Amino acid sequence: MGIDLDLKDLARYPFLQESQTFARDRTGSIDTFLESQVGKIVLPHAAARVRAALFPDQVDQDESEPLSEVSIFSYAVARVLVSCTKDRMMADRLARYEAARAAAALQDEDPAIRAYVAQSLGIDLDARTIPVTTYVELVARLRDDRWRLVNRQVREGAVTVGTTEVGELLRERIRVVVGRDLPLNVPTSLCDALKPYIDELTAALREKTLEEFGEVDETSFPPCIAALINAVTAGTNLSHMGRFALTAFLHNIGLTTTQIAEVFQRAPDFDLSITMYQVEHISGRSGTEYTAPSCATMRTYGLCVHKNALCETMSHPLSYYRRKKWQQENKKKE
Ligand code: SF4
Repeated sequence: MGIDLDLKDLARYPFLQESQTFARDRTGSIDTFLESQVGKIVLPHAAARVRAALFPDQVDQDESEPLSEVSIFSYAVARVLVSCTKDRMMADRLARYEAARAAAALQDEDPAIRAYVAQSLGIDLDARTIPVTTYVELVARLRDDRWRLVNRQVREGAVTVGTTEVGELLRERIRVVVGRDLPLNVPTSLCDALKPYIDELTAALREKTLEEFGEVDETSFPPCIAALINAVTAGTNLSHMGRFALTAFLHNIGLTTTQIAEVFQRAPDFDLSITMYQVEHISGRSGTEYTAPSCATMRTYGLCVHKNALCETMSHPLSYYRRKKWQQENKKKE
């Protein structure tokens, strides 16, 4: 289906092939572009875009970016900025923000454009069934139980979906497309040139994590994480998954690489260079997955141990931690 997209459409849906081509044809190499007059205008907009991804509630709709060339370019530069932070958490937040933004625009969109955007991403808005393989790929990161294949009606190799669910799947698809390839492999020289912006965004991410989880409180750690720390302290060799779960959890609640290394330092056979390498790898510097595993995954790997009453209502160690901290803080106030 051919359709004419104007500049505003390209700015609203900057992940489309047409928008990418538009940006590529006008910017050329990214370093040269960032040194150009337009590049200097775009850069603060791109940083603001990443900040908005971290603090979406603080975005004033009246001040949101105008739909123009700058907006198309700032999408591309924002991806460069988050890549230079080398933090998957930042990249993931940008992807979620862009997906939410585009999904909101699509709600009031001209039906033909809406259908075109969806189709460009491999989704047919009118379809009430999706081939199983496509469905499984689409819901891979959706945690809600209702998306699990066992809870769906599957007939002749296709999964039945509702009208509103197709919208949700489209949003998820946008998130995957925006997040795909992030972090990009940006040359160190370019990241160095962008350092003031990178430092500011890294600080903003820490602020966001602090806002979400508050100061680190080891007494609120879930039993599984406490057990992993005890094992490290006792000098027990953690399995790869155990090391990953512990590092990712600590990274997710806001510990820096150095602070995480300090936890591993409790091990009698501690080796700083190996630990720093592993921690940086898991924290996302090499583009690996960073989110701490869910309770279901912990169970699969035999890492769900010493479950307590609070565990019964939790599906993720991070939710446990958030709830337990909240309980502890409330107790102190009483
Ligand atoms: S239920 Fe979840 S939070 Fe509790 S110990 Fe098991 S994995 Fe950890």
